[in-house]
Amino acid sequence: MDAIEARRFLQALKGMGIDSYFFEREDELTLSALQKEVKACARCPLAVTRKTVVFGEGNEGADLVFVGEAPGEDEDAQGRPFVGRAGKFLDQMIQRIGLSRKDVFICNVLKCRPPQNRDPDPAEVDMCKGYLFAQLQVIRPKVICALGRHAYNTLMNTDARITKIRGQFTEYQGIKLLPTYHPSFLLRNDERVKEAMEDMEKLREVLRVR
Ligand code: URA
Repeated sequence: MDAIEARRFLQALKGMGIDSYFFEREDELTLSALQKEVKACARCPLAVTRKTVVFGEGNEGADLVFVGEAPGEDEDAQGRPFVGRAGKFLDQMIQRIGLSRKDVFICNVLKCRPPQNRDPDPAEVDMCKGYLFAQLQVIRPKVICALGRHAYNTLMNTDARITKIRGQFTEYQGIKLLPTYHPSFLLRNDERVKEAMEDMEKLREVLRVR
């Protein structure tokens, strides 16, 4: 990235409310620089209860990024996103698009597990969301798929019910955004799986996967 591109990039991040910390390292705006930063994060109390920081993983040049809510027990233990039961279901959703995990990038709103898998606290989201915004700004995918209301509401800065907005494309920072149900919700609500799979077909179409 040359100096002008870096400057433009920094302006975009500033516009999104990313912390000043990132601006001190203009020449290092890469996912690995961010990851180093996030791994050392102690901004909120989850830093005390977590086992591992779950930064996210996948293809850094992905056209599609999935955003979940927060790591669960398995993710906290392994340091990888969506590796438990919900993760197995997400794998099936990705397959439906005609892709595999190595084609996409997967991350969460919170990078640390809330105790007992409780909902993210708004203060935790406020302290953590800058990392997600920065990840998306570095990857700049064609499409983002928000898994559940926490992901959607954080990206859109709103308070919508997932049943009202799922399956409808909108835009986040000029990137197509499709909200769908969270895989954990789908594990408990069989009757919603059909709609989620229809959403995956929409992603397949937008990404023109054969
Ligand atoms: N649920 C999430 O939202 N994220 C994970 O990584 C795992 C389960």
